[in-house]
Amino acid sequence: MKVLLTGGAGFIGSHTAVALLEAGHEIVALDNLYNSSPEALKRVEEITGKKAPLVVGDCTDEKDLRKVFEQYGHIDAVVHFAGLKAVGESVQKPLDYYQNNLDSTFTLLRVMRMYGCHALVFSSSATVYGTNQEMPLREDFPTGCTSPYGWTKWMNEQVLTDCAHADEKLKVVLLRYFNPIGAHESGRIGEDPAGIPNNLMPFICQVASGKLDHLNVFGSDYPTPDGTGVRDYIHVCDLAEGHVAALEYAMGHAGVEIINLGTGEGYSVLDIVHTFERVNGLKLPYQITARRPGDVAICYSDVTKAERLLHWHAKRNLEAMCRDSWNWQKHNPQGYGK
Ligand code: NAD
Ligand code: UDP
Repeated sequence: MKVLLTGGAGFIGSHTAVALLEAGHEIVALDNLYNSSPEALKRVEEITGKKAPLVVGDCTDEKDLRKVFEQYGHIDAVVHFAGLKAVGESVQKPLDYYQNNLDSTFTLLRVMRMYGCHALVFSSSATVYGTNQEMPLREDFPTGCTSPYGWTKWMNEQVLTDCAHADEKLKVVLLRYFNPIGAHESGRIGEDPAGIPNNLMPFICQVASGKLDHLNVFGSDYPTPDGTGVRDYIHVCDLAEGHVAALEYAMGHAGVEIINLGTGEGYSVLDIVHTFERVNGLKLPYQITARRPGDVAICYSDVTKAERLLHWHAKRNLEAMCRDSWNWQKHNPQGYGK
């Protein structure tokens, strides 16, 4: 099938491009390069030996989207990655987040309908589970968010659910990602955050490379085995393969499904630090500091629905995640140099 990847030059989009091309599909990416570089898709072509065209444009702009549908022939399905994703920034600039993350979906849905494209996979997030205490998190648990970013995902889920109910042709899969880390094993594509990273693994990579002098571990008094926060880290290549399975599922099923993409395992901040040190033969200086406001103690997924509907499960372990993250950072200390 031919798949449009909005936000396809980004971290998850570029890895999904590789997985789709390797599975024999065609892709075209639309990205405004706000948080990415065209180099990512050049490297996707280098890894796969296949074409990964990029249209530089904005998903909130109907003209830009129509151009893709006009130029690239019939598009069978879309994966909608495009969005702003920094939780802290969304608290400072809520309007930018609501505008970009919602308008892009409205415009995309309109243009898809104009061109007879009916299948959509959406990048949602485990953040929509809010402060649920019961683990593992199952897709039918109550939702609610703690940041404008989270609410944009929650609202998108609602919009897409309502549209799927109103249009019997529409096929929607809402993927709730847990914590994607790692990089393609070639070390050619990976996560390239601007400025000081907010997320744990990119921060650790910059400490390991000497760019930052130590890691702050946010809290050691959580009700977890070692007191530090527990998350469900998933290798980005497993996540990418989950998208291929979700697209293939969507093509054959009208309506809407919500599916978690995680490993179902929780690891603490110190588990990550120690595994990273062991696998890569490095020392990571760290200090315990106060909890980060808004953080939950524990968050991990129930993966039974993904296995049942998509016949997909994550295959790569924490060692591979830590090795591949560092392999990317080590060979690309300036990221893509954007
Ligand atoms: P990313 O920032 O690397 O990729 C998003 C891409 O979208 C970027 O290349 C950016 O330039 C582009 N973009 C943003 N607004 C756009 C617009 N209006 N038009 C065109 N392009 C636009 O982020 P990522 O980590 O690859 O995340 C992809 C998606 O998955 C996002 O929607 C994000 O919210 C969601 N998600 C990410 C994580 C995570 O931890 N990385 C977790 C859960 C959900
Ligand atoms: N974390 C940390 N130091 C950092 C960044 C994150 O201790 O510099 C912790 C954070 O408190 C959480 C875990 O690492 O327990 C994962 O945080 P991240 O921001 O990567 O993901 P999220 O909180 O969105 O799940």
